Amino acid sequence: MPLICERFDTLGLEDPSREVRLGIMGGTFDPIHMGHLACAEQARVAFGLDAVIFIPAGVQPFKQDQQVTDANMRFEMCKLACATNPFFDVSAIEIEREGLTYTVDTLRQLHAHYPSNVALFFITGADAMLSIAKWHDSAAIADLAHLIAVTRPGYVMTDEAKAELAAAHFDVSYLETTALSISSSMMREWVREGKSIRYLTSLAVHDYILAKGLYKD
Ligand code: ATP
Ligand code: MG
Repeated sequence: MPLICERFDTLGLEDPSREVRLGIMGGTFDPIHMGHLACAEQARVAFGLDAVIFIPAGVQPFKQDQQVTDANMRFEMCKLACATNPFFDVSAIEIEREGLTYTVDTLRQLHAHYPSNVALFFITGADAMLSIAKWHDSAAIADLAHLIAVTRPGYVMTDEAKAELAAAHFDVSYLETTALSISSSMMREWVREGKSIRYLTSLAVHDYILAKGLYKD
């Protein structure tokens, strides 16, 4: 049984003198789509990340009043999407944890699991980065991980917003990624309206959504 995920549990052990860079991509992933995957891949290359772990959230404090697809199905879709990239894997640590999902708990768990030569890089889109200073125990988040803010169509990181993050001691790097104007909400809406979502996510995830009849009502 993996503690964190199947592929990368022993990261950093082989050579304790080498810094290993681990990317973390958090989200609801309801469903995972090409926007998530392309951002993670581009961040991996740009920052020389050794691996990226996608961590689907359990119950998020700010989405408590929303209907969210069963966590195991969101996890499975992430697994299907990540299977073809040897640098990607998916962790169930947030969906297995009791109570509300807080990123700070996840980062603490990763920090405790991996040896000290593993550095954490938390990847988020501009929309999430704009709110991160308001997240639970954000000061600890700033201590535990470097942040990579990727561009997202429809959201602008102003110089003022960047200055606020720097003032709150977040170590943020900004990365311009290919603009993919895709969101999970849009995909759920399109399925409900009977529109095709082919090519907005991996074919395996597309087929899974259709086979399970997800997002139809
Ligand atoms: P929803 O519409 O349900 O909120 P979403 O598409 O925003 O779904 P999330 O699971 O909420 O997906 O997002 C997970 C992470 O991926 C967040 O950091 C978010 O900013 C980022 N992200 C999602 N879609 C994109 C995209 N198209 N481009 C860049 N970043 C993205
Ligand atoms: Mg979102």
